[in-house]
Amino acid sequence: MSKTTMDHAEASVAFNKDESYVDWHDETLWFVRQKRDRSSKLLPEWEQLRNTASQIKDYVLSHMDELLLSFEQKAKENGVHVHWAYNAAEHNEIVLGLLNRNRITKMVKSKSMLTEECHMNEFLSQNGIEVIDTDLGERIVQLRQEPPSHIVLPAIHLKKKDIGDLFHEHLGTDAGATDPQYLAEAARQHLRDKFLTRRAALTGVNFAIADTGGFVVATNEGNADMGAHLADIHIASMGFEKIIPRQEHLGVFLRLLARSATGQPVTTYNSHFKKPRDGQEMHIIIVDNGRTAQLGREDFRNSLKCIRCGACMNTCPVYRRSGGHSYHNAVAGPIGSILAPNLDMTKNADLPFASTLCGSCSNVCPVKIDIHDQLYKWRQVLAKGGYVPKAKEAGIKAMSAVLSQPRFYQWSGKLGRSVMRIMPFMVNNQLNPWYKNREMPEPPKESFRDWYVNNRRK
Ligand code: SF4
Repeated sequence: MSKTTMDHAEASVAFNKDESYVDWHDETLWFVRQKRDRSSKLLPEWEQLRNTASQIKDYVLSHMDELLLSFEQKAKENGVHVHWAYNAAEHNEIVLGLLNRNRITKMVKSKSMLTEECHMNEFLSQNGIEVIDTDLGERIVQLRQEPPSHIVLPAIHLKKKDIGDLFHEHLGTDAGATDPQYLAEAARQHLRDKFLTRRAALTGVNFAIADTGGFVVATNEGNADMGAHLADIHIASMGFEKIIPRQEHLGVFLRLLARSATGQPVTTYNSHFKKPRDGQEMHIIIVDNGRTAQLGREDFRNSLKCIRCGACMNTCPVYRRSGGHSYHNAVAGPIGSILAPNLDMTKNADLPFASTLCGSCSNVCPVKIDIHDQLYKWRQVLAKGGYVPKAKEAGIKAMSAVLSQPRFYQWSGKLGRSVMRIMPFMVNNQLNPWYKNREMPEPPKESFRDWYVNNRRK
C-alpha cells in the first residue's frame, strides 16, 4: 500500500518559523471564535437552531436524489440551464465550454471553495481564460499566487503590512501604506473596472432550494451580486450537498451561518437568485467530485452537512498554530481533514492526525457534525489500510501493546522515567520530532499509580 506523500507537521514548519507571527494568527482566530460565542449566546434558541439544522441535513442526506432532481426541474422551469459534473475535470470542462461558446476570455468570480477544490482557475488559465477573484481576501491571495488559507477568511494569514506591500507592487498604492480603508479603496477601484468589463461571472452557491429552484449566495462585499448582475452569463457552481428542501429552511441556516462564521447576526448580502434577467444566461453546475463516495461511508457521511462557516477552524488549536496552507487541501482545518482523505487517501492520510481530538470543533459546529469522532475514525481506516508511514504504524502498534497490558504499561512507565532522568539524550534528540519545539519535561518521581497505592493505604 502506498505511503502518504504529504505531511502536515512538515508543511507547518515554514509557518512556525516566527513564533510572534504564530501567536498573532492564533489570537486573531481566537478573537473571531469569541465573537461567535458572544453572538450565539444572544439567541436563546441557539441550540434549538443547531438541532433543527442538523435534522434538516439528516433529511437531505437520506433524500439527496429526490431533492436534486426536484431542484433541477424547478430551475429549468425558471429558465436556468442545469449541468451535472461527476468530477472536477468535468466541472472545469463545462465552464470552459460555456465561455468558449460565447467567445469569452475574461471572467469575474466571487468566492467559491468548490472551484478551489476543482483547481478551476489554473485549468482556465492554461486554456487562455483570465479569472479575476473579486472577494477582497481571495483577490489578495490570487495576487500572491497562493491558495486561500481559510474558507471564510482567505487571507487571514497576512498582516496589513503584507497587503500594503502587495498592493504597492500590483495596484500602485503608496509604498509603506497600511491603512485598511486606503487599501480597501484601492482594491475597490481596481475591481470595479473588472466588474464593468467582464461578460461572464461565476459564483458559488451557499444554499440551493429544492422546492423553488432558487439559490442563495452569501457575501459580505456584495461582489457576487455585482458580478452576476453586470454579466451576460452567470455560472453558479455548487457541490450537491448544498441542497436544502424548502425556502423556509433558509432562515435556520442563514442565522447559523453568519453567527458561526464571523459573529455577525446576518451576512451583509444574502443574494437570492432564481432566474436569469432578460437577455442573460444563467447556468448551474451540480458537482459530485467524491461526494457520492462520502455519502456512502456510514461513518463520514455527516461531513456533508457542512455549511462552510469556518468555526471549526477558528477554534482548532492545531489550525490556529499551523496555518491553513499546512493542510495542503482546498478546505483546511478539522472539516477539511475529514473531506480530504475521501478524495485521496494517499495524499491526505496525514490530515486526520493533525488534531488533538479535543472536541472543540464538534462543540461549535452549527450543524452538529461529530467532527472529532470522524477524525478518530479516519485514523483507524487509514492505519488499517496501510496509508500511514511505517514509523507511525510501528508506534501505534507498540502503544497498543503497552496500553492493553497493565503490567507492561507499569513497567514501561518506570523504564521511561528512568531513561528521562539518567539518559535524557535518548529521547531528547534530533531523531525525535516531538522535542523540536518543546522543553524536556521533568520526569515525575513516582507514577500516579504508585502515589495512589501509597496514599490509599494511609
Ligand atoms: S464542519 Fe461545522 S464548524 Fe466546520 S465549517 Fe462545516 S459547518 Fe462550520
